[in-house]
Amino acid sequence: MTVEQDSLVVHRLAEVRARIERACRDAGRAPDEVHLVAVSKTFEAAHIAPAIEAGQRLFGENRVQEAKGKWPALRAAHPDIELHLIGPLQTNKVREALALFDVIHTLDRPSLAAALAKELARPEARPAPRLLVQVNTGEEPQKAGVAPEEADAFIATCRDTHGLAVEGLMCIPPADEPAAPHFALLATIARRNGLSTLSMGMSGDFETAIGLGATYVRVGSAIFGGR
Ligand SMILES: *Cc1c(COP(=O)(O)O)cnc(C)c1O
Repeated sequence: MTVEQDSLVVHRLAEVRARIERACRDAGRAPDEVHLVAVSKTFEAAHIAPAIEAGQRLFGENRVQEAKGKWPALRAAHPDIELHLIGPLQTNKVREALALFDVIHTLDRPSLAAALAKELARPEARPAPRLLVQVNTGEEPQKAGVAPEEADAFIATCRDTHGLAVEGLMCIPPADEPAAPHFALLATIARRNGLSTLSMGMSGDFETAIGLGATYVRVGSAIFGGR
C-alpha cells in the first residue's frame, strides 16, 4: 500500500460516514441508529489497516476461510473490532464461523439453525453471535435466504425449536430492480415479528436503505474501491 492508497481509503470512509449522517438527518433519524459495516472481502490486510487506524470497527466478510486468514492478526491489535459474516454459511464451517464472527447476517435455512444450535450447546463454545435471518425478498432462485412468505415461520422455528435469539433481518435486493420496495418489505417482515435490526443497503443504495429503516449498512466498494 502506498501512502496515496492509504489516504484514499481514509478519505472514502469519511465520505461514506458523512453520507450516512446526512441520510439519517434527511430521514429524521439519529445517526447512532445506523451502523456502518465496512465490507472488506477480497482486500488484503494492508488495504484494510488504514480504515482501522481511522477508527472503523465493524467489518464484513463473506467467506469464513478468507476471514480466518486475515482477521485474527488484524484483531489482535484492536480487540474491539466486530466481525460480521455477510455471505452464505455452510454447516460444515459453523464451528470456524462461531470462533471468528460476532454477528452472522445469513441465517437462511433450518439445517443451519440446527447446526448453530448444536455447536452453541458445546460446553466450550463461545457466547452466541448475534443472528440475523436473510430474506430472499426478490425470490431469486440463485440467491440465499428464506422466501418472504416463509420468514415468520422460520424465525419462529429458530426461536422455539432451536433456542436461537434472532435479532433482525438482512436482504440483498435483485441487482436489476429498484431496491426500495425490497427494503420496505424487509422492514414490514421485521416489524410484524418484533425485530428491530435491519441489515440492508450497500454502496449503491445505502441512503435509500437508511430512509427505510436500516440499522446496519454493508458498504464495500465505496470505501475500499473496486474488487
Ligand atoms: C459484497 C457485499 C456487500 C458490499 O457491496 P458493495 O456494493 O461493494 O458495497 C454488501 N453485502 C453483501 C452481502 C456483499 O456480499
